[in-house]
Amino acid sequence: MKNTERVISDDPTSASVGDVVWSPVKSLWFLGNLTAALFIAPGLFSMSALAVFIVLTAITLCFGHSLGMHRLLIHRSYECPLWMEYVFVYAGVLVGMAGPIGMLKQHDLRDWAQRQEKCHDFLLHGSSILKDGWWQLNCDLRLQNPPIFHIEPRVLKSRFYQFIESTWLLQQIVLVVPLFLLGGLSWVVWGVCVRVVVSVGGHWLIGFFAHNRGQRTWRVEGAAVQGHNIRIAGFLSMGEAWHNNHHAYPGSAMLGLYKDEPDPGWWVLNALHNLGIVKNIKLPQHLPQRSELVTEAINLGQRVQRVPENCDIATFIKRAG
Ligand SMILES: [Zn+2]
Ligand SMILES: [Zn+2]
Repeated sequence: MKNTERVISDDPTSASVGDVVWSPVKSLWFLGNLTAALFIAPGLFSMSALAVFIVLTAITLCFGHSLGMHRLLIHRSYECPLWMEYVFVYAGVLVGMAGPIGMLKQHDLRDWAQRQEKCHDFLLHGSSILKDGWWQLNCDLRLQNPPIFHIEPRVLKSRFYQFIESTWLLQQIVLVVPLFLLGGLSWVVWGVCVRVVVSVGGHWLIGFFAHNRGQRTWRVEGAAVQGHNIRIAGFLSMGEAWHNNHHAYPGSAMLGLYKDEPDPGWWVLNALHNLGIVKNIKLPQHLPQRSELVTEAINLGQRVQRVPENCDIATFIKRAG
């Protein structure tokens, strides 16, 4: 077995043998929000509710899901003060997908399973789109011989992470109350229900395509599935849809590695780095060489690589301060 830092097993069936079972909390949470988004939200539409939806979705996905949960908590691809880590990861909890430890486990199980020769269809999005949608948004996989997880004590023992892990669903109240007071039911439905459906549903949809079709720059030899870059979702996913790049360089804080791959999460990170708050950003050239990584694209020489840049806004803020 090809073990990762946090996931370990010596049983060759551990990534592939298991049953998909209905998960009541996950399913009712998603379907409840979907019902509200389809049948209640249109009647409560207003321009202000739409603005609330857009702003909250962008903030929670960019700062929370992409920069907080994925690039920081899970991959440790940059360093920042602890208060900033907690703010970012908290914004990630508000996306409405899972708590920090739940997200970390889900992500690392997939990451580990996809590197094996055999991997369950649930973990590599290997079924038809309808079946995969039902599975990912309403069910969990119970592996017969699950691997062992080693989660670092700084995450597992953190009182803050333990608290938001056990209350991740209830944390929506932190948004519901001010939204209701400021804009009534309309803001609640658009700012929570529609946002959760678009974020959680969009995450699944991109995950489905990112493991089935789309452009590939690299191939990981011996892996059960390859990642693909989903160009049309690159910008809206805050850079997360450059999934072929991520399979090639999982520890890189930059996901859109070329100038023609928009990566809003990286733009924010680059600005924070310019401000001096974020340090030690990891890029592909800082990661250990992988013998299993093969270049598939033939035009790499003509493409312009993205590099850390000076940020005008950061310079302006620094001068003003
Ligand atoms: Zn993947
Ligand atoms: Zn990842």
